[in-house]
Amino acid sequence: MSGEAILTVKGLTKRFGSGEAEVEVLKGIDFSMTSGEMAALLGPSGSGKSTFLTIIGTLMRATSGAHEMLGTDLMHASDAERTRFRSEHLGFVFQFHHLLPDLSALENVMMPAAAAQGRETAAMRARASELLDAVGLANRRDYRPGAMSGGQRQRVAVARALINNPALVLADEPVGSLDRASADDVMTLIREINATMNTSFLISTHDEYIAGQCARRVELLDGRIVRGAVGGEVGPPAG
Ligand code: ADP
Ligand code: MG
Repeated sequence: MSGEAILTVKGLTKRFGSGEAEVEVLKGIDFSMTSGEMAALLGPSGSGKSTFLTIIGTLMRATSGAHEMLGTDLMHASDAERTRFRSEHLGFVFQFHHLLPDLSALENVMMPAAAAQGRETAAMRARASELLDAVGLANRRDYRPGAMSGGQRQRVAVARALINNPALVLADEPVGSLDRASADDVMTLIREINATMNTSFLISTHDEYIAGQCARRVELLDGRIVRGAVGGEVGPPAG
């Protein structure tokens, strides 16, 4: 099912520092996403993309405003509730893969599930294996990150983001450190996952070419959304 609201943010602000050193990085953001959406978050360096994704991802709290996802009031939830919510409903991909160097691809993919449950299970292992198949790395299951290419590592990171079957994956410049061909592979993969698993993606980038591969375009400028704050249009990329 597509098109149901999953995330709503209203009047969201984020300030760092205090007194004369205080800076307001997010200046009152209204934003929503629906299930199955694939959105690009565009904006120049320093516009607040990472700050916004970090807040949406419950890794940091907003200063003020409303932040709700899947019926949970994340603004007023306790730290423990937010941590639990994060592991159940959110996935993350970063610019640098952040895979653990001493674990195999399969173990890296399983890691968020094992961490959430405090142990590894056969079901987890099977799911991680399926996800590695889905990202085209069935034959790299036992490889450590150091023995894989940049594009392959980022595909492992995408599989890892999906292990807990999140409603929304937040990807902060996920292909920003890859060459164009590897970036294309990873974006194609993300589009396939979006289409087949109905996982929503919010992908920050400063690259128009990457943004053009997303059905929705959200533009952040100096801490404000200047375009695309309301979604709901699910479909092929425009243009
Ligand atoms: P982007 O990801 O779009 O490049 P960021 O969200 O990283 O932008 O940063 C937006 C602004 O917020 C920048 O001016 C940055 O210096 C500032 N900023 C980010 N994190 C902090 C922090 N922890 N303390 C103070 N300023 C910060
Ligand atoms: Mg950033």
